[in-house]
Amino acid sequence: MRTALLALLLLGICTRSLAAELTVYSSRIEDLIKPIFGRYTAETGTPIRFITDKEGPLLQRLRAEGASTPADLLLTVDAGNLWQAAQLGLLQPVQSEVLAANLPAHLRDPEGRWFGLSIRARTVVYHSGRVQPGALSTYEALGDARWKDRLCLRTSKKVYNQSLVAMMLAELGPQRTEAVVAGWVGNLAAPPFASDNEVMEAIVAGRCDVGLVNTYYYGRLMRQRPELPLKLFWPNQDPAEGELGGVHVNVSGMGVTTHSPHPEAAVKFLEWLSQRPAQALFAGLNLEFPANPAVEADAITANWGTFTQDPVNLAEAGRRQAEAVRLMDRVGYR
Ligand code: FE
Repeated sequence: MRTALLALLLLGICTRSLAAELTVYSSRIEDLIKPIFGRYTAETGTPIRFITDKEGPLLQRLRAEGASTPADLLLTVDAGNLWQAAQLGLLQPVQSEVLAANLPAHLRDPEGRWFGLSIRARTVVYHSGRVQPGALSTYEALGDARWKDRLCLRTSKKVYNQSLVAMMLAELGPQRTEAVVAGWVGNLAAPPFASDNEVMEAIVAGRCDVGLVNTYYYGRLMRQRPELPLKLFWPNQDPAEGELGGVHVNVSGMGVTTHSPHPEAAVKFLEWLSQRPAQALFAGLNLEFPANPAVEADAITANWGTFTQDPVNLAEAGRRQAEAVRLMDRVGYR
């Protein structure tokens, strides 16, 4: 009897670790994750269940569920959000040589609680008829008098802009950052917009000449309307002291939850996501760039040219986010 029970118990433990079904809480929509999760299941036999929602409710849910959460992994966009999840104790540190080798250090948490899997650049977009690219240089220079009443920005409420300003705080210091952002606000041709798309529409409509957008919004718009007179510019490619060290990039990324029921299987999945072909697929689905520099960008994004990324660790985007929000509020960036 005792032996039978022991055997049953062992069997239970084994099936649990072998047939680990993974659960992902994702703020990315189903269209962007299902093809890639399906591929993993096809290759490994590991089923992947996912729940999609906005990051706020997902974090709340993880907190509320605590140790009884079914979630093994959290997938969300923007290092600011990933940092927040780590700060709340919802993600556990992961040590993996595969992840360390595949993903550049600035795109992952120094403590291994989250890993950037795809890159989006937040860069300059301009009207190709009214702006000579030679007139553009840096994020900071968009505050110069030359761009008076010619700049359009998305609202400071969006985490993308909070992360950008947070990185500026980390690299430029508070005084210089405040001067730059005040310069932007002084140059605005219109009140801040609700979306990156509206920024590009305003440029097309002639309300302004330059703006800042995430590359995938530009890619989606140009895929639909290739005739639009919009081009991307890569700023800060020759960075000087007191300037951002390259194009501001951010990530969509993942971390293993603190109370993951299958942490080993979760790490295996993360490792799979950090290499080919997952990297190409994961980035390509949303017109992003692979985080793994050994994996080539897809045809559309490669067309925009190569650029040097700001090499500072994206954890700063989270760490200085509250300070960034206060700064933008102070200078009247709504
Ligand atoms: Fe977005």
